[in-house]
Amino acid sequence: MRASPAAMLDHLWTWCFRHLGGTPAFRIWGKGRREAAWRQIDVFASARHNLESRWPLWAGSCVTWTAHVIVVGEDFAERLLREQRQSPASRQQPVAVAGGRLSDRQRRLQAGISGPPTASEIMAHECGHTAQARRLGAAYLPVVGAVTLFREGPHWWNHFENEASESGLFGGLVSGSVRADWARYLRD
Ligand SMILES: [Zn+2]
Repeated sequence: MRASPAAMLDHLWTWCFRHLGGTPAFRIWGKGRREAAWRQIDVFASARHNLESRWPLWAGSCVTWTAHVIVVGEDFAERLLREQRQSPASRQQPVAVAGGRLSDRQRRLQAGISGPPTASEIMAHECGHTAQARRLGAAYLPVVGAVTLFREGPHWWNHFENEASESGLFGGLVSGSVRADWARYLRD
């Protein structure tokens, strides 16, 4: 069966990242709620994405580029690995965004969560974006990239951000995928 142009473009982007970015820091399992199968997603960690300021801008340090590539700050990657050491997510028990929102305090409280989002929840949100990238193909970056700046909210331009938070599932680290220089965060 021939791949669609959208799928081909997604593969091309993913190929470019693998060749420019070298080996990912680690890989994760992720999908949207409506997807049947889990996908392996490369996570690249870059110092340029480190966040000087604190949450809630923290989520800004993650960018989903394709259905198979997420780029995060090194500080975020470290935090995620430390969280996963404490309480690992799995495909059987994936992490979702509490109340389907990273930044709506009321909805999060109703879901029984009073604190700010964890790195694992933010990763679940990014997994929601990978599902959009898969669905929209070539249109993903120009369309979602443009409106992602507006974040979650009640307006039509918040749609992709809301949907990413509602649908994304983070199924944990792919076993054996953590690069040697990152593996120490799983130990100490
Ligand atoms: Zn987002």
